[in-house]
Amino acid sequence: MTDTLAAFLDTLDADIRARADWGAVASYIPELARIDPAQFAISVALADGQVLNAGDSETRFSIQSVSKVFSLACVLARIGEGLWRRVGREPSGDRFDSILLLEQEQGRPRNPFINAGALVTTDELLAGRAPREALSEIIGFVRASAGDDDIHIDRAVAESEKATGYRNVALANYLKSYGNLVNAPDLVLGTYFHQCAIEMTTRQLALAGRGIAGLPGAPFLLNGVKRRRIAALMMTCGHYDGSGDFAFRTGLPGKSGVGGGILIAVPGRASVAIWSPGLNAWGNSKCGTEAAERLARFTGWSVFG
Ligand code: GLU
Repeated sequence: MTDTLAAFLDTLDADIRARADWGAVASYIPELARIDPAQFAISVALADGQVLNAGDSETRFSIQSVSKVFSLACVLARIGEGLWRRVGREPSGDRFDSILLLEQEQGRPRNPFINAGALVTTDELLAGRAPREALSEIIGFVRASAGDDDIHIDRAVAESEKATGYRNVALANYLKSYGNLVNAPDLVLGTYFHQCAIEMTTRQLALAGRGIAGLPGAPFLLNGVKRRRIAALMMTCGHYDGSGDFAFRTGLPGKSGVGGGILIAVPGRASVAIWSPGLNAWGNSKCGTEAAERLARFTGWSVFG
């Protein structure tokens, strides 16, 4: 299986490069707008400890909203089910940065993966602590999960988003007006922008996802209840208003980021990281989604059998 999977990943990489139909990079964060869209990488960490890589798997990219999986894992470990008093777990069917439902639902975001929900999650992580400590917890979790200390925050990306992230500023103020942010909006936003600016290679990200996929031997294995909760949210909400399409095409829990990364947890079997910075209409990696669909078809890994 491993040999054929390795050969499949090489073919996938070659096919995607040959088509060169990359999509457009995110332009609302100036530092991300400068990235060359013509890049692709895939890494698959398997249950037997092997990691297979193809493409630009040693290039670091901005994980952006993929970080929401790790902040959620940290908060569930810290306060457990108490989070659901402040954030829901329903797909939103709206854009990642939408403010619409927040008014209808009186400041309780639909789920922890849309921006409003992630801001509340980060606010929880900040409780009683300085931003530096909350960020250390997230990055410490990511490093421990990957078994790799060479994972850092790209400060230029964080500053770039801080300078232009007006919608997130609006969301944070709106949440605060409903009493659903404990800390000052500025503190929450600064922490959130830095968490989104963690940069990793697909190899590092696939390794970091092993605990969420429940792979034996992962250095940081989450307990079964947390893994199932996180994977269910990835499946139903991990691709914003494109979540149904991703689930339909892959049958797998995945979380995307506007940097073009996708983390996929194949429960008990594999942790997969894919990166291609050009995005589709929903703001999810265009070639990354196609690659995930082909991988799911090739391996038969859909959780629906
Ligand atoms: N930092 C980005 C934002 O808040 C993350 C969005 C994403 O990756 O989908 O706009």
